[in-house]
Amino acid sequence: MILVPTTLTAEERALQADVRAYLDERLLPGTYPLGLGMAGDVDPAFSRDLGAQGWVGMALPKEYGGGGRTAVERQIVVEELLTRGAPVGFHWTADRQSGLNILHNGTEEQRRALLPGIARGELSFAIGMSEPDAGSDLASVRSIATWKDGAWHISGTKIWTSNAMTATHLLCLFRTSDGRHDGLTQFVVPRDTPGVTVAPIPFIDGTRHFCEVAFEDVRLTDDARLGEVGAGWGQNTSELALERGGVDRWMSTMPLLERWARSEGVRDSVPAQVDLGRILARLWAYRGMSLSIARLVDSGTFPVVEAALVKEMATLFEQESLALVRRHYGRTPSLTSDDPWEALLARAILVGPSWTLRGGTTEILRTIISKGLIKR
Ligand SMILES: Cc1cc2nc3c(=O)[nH]c(=O)nc-3n(C[C@H](O)[C@H](O)[C@H](O)COP(=O)(O)OP(=O)(O)OC[C@H]3O[C@@H](n4cnc5c(N)ncnc54)[C@H](O)[C@@H]3O)c2cc1C
Repeated sequence: MILVPTTLTAEERALQADVRAYLDERLLPGTYPLGLGMAGDVDPAFSRDLGAQGWVGMALPKEYGGGGRTAVERQIVVEELLTRGAPVGFHWTADRQSGLNILHNGTEEQRRALLPGIARGELSFAIGMSEPDAGSDLASVRSIATWKDGAWHISGTKIWTSNAMTATHLLCLFRTSDGRHDGLTQFVVPRDTPGVTVAPIPFIDGTRHFCEVAFEDVRLTDDARLGEVGAGWGQNTSELALERGGVDRWMSTMPLLERWARSEGVRDSVPAQVDLGRILARLWAYRGMSLSIARLVDSGTFPVVEAALVKEMATLFEQESLALVRRHYGRTPSLTSDDPWEALLARAILVGPSWTLRGGTTEILRTIISKGLIKR
């Protein structure tokens, strides 16, 4: 394991202060729907405002409109956003992983066409990996891309595609030949391409960000292909490292924890204080691990095993800390409560089980960790 303990530099702390000051004004409590981490509300205007601050696409190079900053600096901004339950849903996936994937694997034309819009907070990406018969076993992807008469012809169905309804682009994994792993290729598909149909799958908390995406003989030119034909599996694995190791894996409950920590329920109860201490100790450890992963990314590494390790532990932590808050709250929270905090608690209880599924289930992560560590 190569997670080296690290702390913030003076410049990084100055950035943290700037972000806090900006968000204190931009996100006044009660003026926006409180969100649960990366599943925050979709608000294109907020994403554009953040882009104008230079806080979207921060880790992309300046020549492509990015901030030329580090993964650690991005983490600092992200921590502040998630602590406030900010409406980050529109730009989240593009900022976290699609932009970097395009930077590393795209052609110069693709970088120039897509990265500046991502950094401005104007482009929104959804990830089309899972299919009805390919989830944990992603190599079973059946949606097919065939090169014929000078175009790629795409047919198939993607499922559980978060935010596909509001995304401008879909970054998808399709089968281009029979090879289990080397027969997969990634494509960037504008969502309004003829033949693409997006249908919402109602989520248990009443939100409609979850989708099924059908491709019916969708035609794409070769410049929609991301990376070499057959290179999709490796690109997808690197992308998953970005998706798994970040702070968004343990910060969904932050707005809930923040207010609970300051509540009378904790002030007046020793058992609640003990549980709060338990939560904070673990939270601090996961924060250190995510920070170390960000430093590894900055050194040019894609720490696949470390990211899986953080996700395995931190998503279980999120569920356990939610259970503690729920127990100390003492009554059943209502989704329709006038108190936004109570309504958020009710939503978290409903959607919490999905935290250990999205981005790879706990069982799959454990396999990645054990196989990866045995090889070292
Ligand atoms: C909130 C949410 C958002 C999501 N967003 C997206 C998205 O934007 N894009 C996208 O492509 N997908 C998305 N997904 C899908 C997600 O990646 C899959 O649900 C996940 O990979 C599991 O696949 P599955 O649902 O097909 O379950 P299955 O793969 O059928 O697994 C079912 C159960 O069997 C276990 N299992 C399966 N194989 C093994 C094995 N080899 N060893 C041990 N246990 C095993 C699993 O751990 C699980 O408990 C999202 C899912 C959720 C819940």
